[in-house]
Amino acid sequence: MSRGASRLTVLAGPTAVGKGSVTAWVREHHPEVWISVSVTTRRPRPEEQDGVHYHFVDDAEFDRLVAADALLEWAVVHGVHRYGTPRRPVDEALAEQRLALLEIDLQGARQVRRRMPQARFVFLAPPSFEELERRLVGRGTETAQERERRLRTAHEELAAEREFDVTVVNRRVAEAGERLVELMEYGEA
Ligand code: 5GP
Repeated sequence: MSRGASRLTVLAGPTAVGKGSVTAWVREHHPEVWISVSVTTRRPRPEEQDGVHYHFVDDAEFDRLVAADALLEWAVVHGVHRYGTPRRPVDEALAEQRLALLEIDLQGARQVRRRMPQARFVFLAPPSFEELERRLVGRGTETAQERERRLRTAHEELAAEREFDVTVVNRRVAEAGERLVELMEYGEA
């Protein structure tokens, strides 16, 4: 299958670029797109519903899923909690010919590339490094050391762009969301 016809799209990009906002926009405006619900060991935030935003599981359940090879990919994100993509719902969505979207971190995207190289890999980029810096440190609550560490990580994450098939710049969430869905529906032409 050529990538233009691939029904599976992986969206990744640096921390704080706004992947979650773009995915939420697609969920709201394009119900024809099937969006994978990840499993995570982190606790739910107040507005999050189990089974909608994530499947919230404990460490023992996550271990079980890994041992059963039930995850297409998984990673420890931000050095704390584990996140993974349940494999079977992805297979089922693709078997039903649906357009499927995974919003995962860079480590996860690399694993999917090894297992499903025919998928389309979309890098969500900030308008500029300065803008990413503003989004990252905007709250101003971090120590200088923490800020330094985050910026170093952001530089490394931006360098991953060349591993992707196509870049979408997140200037405005709706614009980036439309471009993403357009790529999913019509490919890169
Ligand atoms: P949050 O905890 O803010 O919802 O997400 C934190 C990070 O985890 C985001 O960068 C998001 O892309 C990543 N993430 C969410 N689900 C998955 C997943 O299933 N696999 C991987 N590898 N990363 C994920």
